[in-house]
Amino acid sequence: MKKIGVLTSGGDAPGMNAAIRAVVRKAIFSDMEVYGIYNGYQGLMEGNIKKMELGSAGDIIQRGGTVLYSARSDEFKTEEGQQTAIKQLNKFGIEGLIVIGGDGSFQGAAKLTEKGYPCIGVPGTIDNDIPGTDFTIGFDTALNTIIDAVDKIRDTATSHERTYVIEVMGRNAGDLALWAGLADGAESILIPENTNDFDTVVDRLKKGQARGKKHSIIILAEGVGNGIDYGNKIEDATGMETRVTVLGHIQRGGRPSGFDRVLASRLGAKAVELLIEGQAGRMVGIQNNKLVDHDIIEALKQKHQIDLDMYRLSNELSI
Ligand code: ATP
Repeated sequence: MKKIGVLTSGGDAPGMNAAIRAVVRKAIFSDMEVYGIYNGYQGLMEGNIKKMELGSAGDIIQRGGTVLYSARSDEFKTEEGQQTAIKQLNKFGIEGLIVIGGDGSFQGAAKLTEKGYPCIGVPGTIDNDIPGTDFTIGFDTALNTIIDAVDKIRDTATSHERTYVIEVMGRNAGDLALWAGLADGAESILIPENTNDFDTVVDRLKKGQARGKKHSIIILAEGVGNGIDYGNKIEDATGMETRVTVLGHIQRGGRPSGFDRVLASRLGAKAVELLIEGQAGRMVGIQNNKLVDHDIIEALKQKHQIDLDMYRLSNELSI
């Protein structure tokens, strides 16, 4: 394989740039040419493709976002869209494609592979919701952004003796809420995979108040519901002054953490190695701190597992 392409797709995540850099550098180191595909699958269908040199991956390892930009494309989900994409890849002589993105992006990579075009998926999303890897690129940075924000909210919550409901991202996965809740000592964590029922949350708040707690923090995963509605319900049920913060897109931006940069570098390089070996339709990941790869279609059939022991621990520690 002499020419490969790389694109980022779906929601952006801090560390995607470090993954792009790893792909570009590893490929050039291995005497291959690399083409950057701009705006995800949409840009691929439109032929928005440029050759990347060593320098084009310079000074990006520390930046959030993605220098290749990202997009969502409904047209690419169609048979016609995928054929157009393959025509573009063939036109540029690109023999293999690395897709950095979430599970939707992996579905796209699987479709191209089914049509005979070799693709490798690199998990990049803050949601940590991809089966076959313990961590996705961007999760650690987003987690630390949430921790910074909650620490700040905690200061004001204590001063005013308030209850705070903080809504965090994660789509249908509760990982960000769970890890942030444990790291922040939240009173209650609400995740789609296993949610404390409302009465339990209220009960814990009342018990905390009875023993003189100055503040209460509840972390709500967006997959469970709307923070504002939840805050109103809590205030009605407890009579406690309750404020809501929806952290929103600050969770998607910012400098990638050391962990995400290292993860992205390892996974990006591993993806290139797989293409060199002639592999196709694989996803790379990290499990028990070892780099792994799995059949992308089989991996997507699995369900991402959250660590429910951590959930139980959080309930025990925040009594
Ligand atoms: P995130 O989890 O961060 O949102 P994602 O990769 O899951 O990232 P999606 O919007 O689901 O984000 O997918 C990105 C793009 O991948 C879609 O806009 C579409 O072009 C392509 N895609 C998604 N699902 C499919 C599918 N079933 N077949 C072909 N292409 C798909």
